[in-house]
Amino acid sequence: MRLGDRQSSNVEDRRGVRFRGAGGIGIGTIVLALVAMYFGQDPTVVLQNAQQNADEPQQGPYRESAAEAESRKLVSAVLADTEEAWGQIFSSNGRTYEQPKLVLFSGAVESACGMAQAAVGPFYCPGDHQVYIDLSFYDELRSRFGAPGDFAQAYVIAHEVGHHVQTLLGISDKTQAARSRASQVESNRISVRQELQADCFAGIWAHNANQSRGVLPTGDLALEAGDIEEGLNAASAIGDDRLQKQSGGYVSPESFTHGSSEQRVRWFKRGFESGLVESCDTFSAREL
Ligand SMILES: [Zn+2]
Repeated sequence: MRLGDRQSSNVEDRRGVRFRGAGGIGIGTIVLALVAMYFGQDPTVVLQNAQQNADEPQQGPYRESAAEAESRKLVSAVLADTEEAWGQIFSSNGRTYEQPKLVLFSGAVESACGMAQAAVGPFYCPGDHQVYIDLSFYDELRSRFGAPGDFAQAYVIAHEVGHHVQTLLGISDKTQAARSRASQVESNRISVRQELQADCFAGIWAHNANQSRGVLPTGDLALEAGDIEEGLNAASAIGDDRLQKQSGGYVSPESFTHGSSEQRVRWFKRGFESGLVESCDTFSAREL
């Protein structure tokens, strides 16, 4: 995949921050809550006040590996891409796009949504409008899936930014309200639509990146349908595996609220092909 030249100035590096007592009681529960959040379930859940775990966090020097440096550049370039894409879309609708910050962390991080452990994978916190990622998530993508991981890495960021856009457009609030009134089954259905829309929004990033950089070289990952599928599957598979691991295998399939990988690919492609927000109306779609 060919990356853009510009690096975003909205990346905040909090790697090397250590929390005293971060291994204490309740971390397992917090991890679960955040995993649930990553999978689209009740993102406002805060199970424990971060203060309890995080008195006086200290930041030591962090030495990144060559692979991490590469991932950091990718993340930053993709974030810059999304700023461009969404900046244009918002301004053409007479609005200003508020760029999200992206926080790199190692091990654990404090967010407005609570303490997160690296194991939860990347997530977006609507409470502080920030995307969080521990780049070790990418080591796993890379080592397990090789080259397609490149596209999967980019997609993961574009998807989280998709949640940010949903927040700015008031969609997240609406779905949250609808879910709080709904049955568990209905709530999961709404969540799937929200997740698939974030996938479609990720497709809009790819559409825009493709356009602004002209025709990408033949064989480019982002252009090959098979690779898109592989990338999305890789990202979802890792999420699912981690979820299983963290929960000791307890989580039931119903709580996997991202939609099937087939649906995810379909909605990603919609955004990718059209580049239009209107094409991402998963909430009115009769069929997903
Ligand atoms: Zn999501």
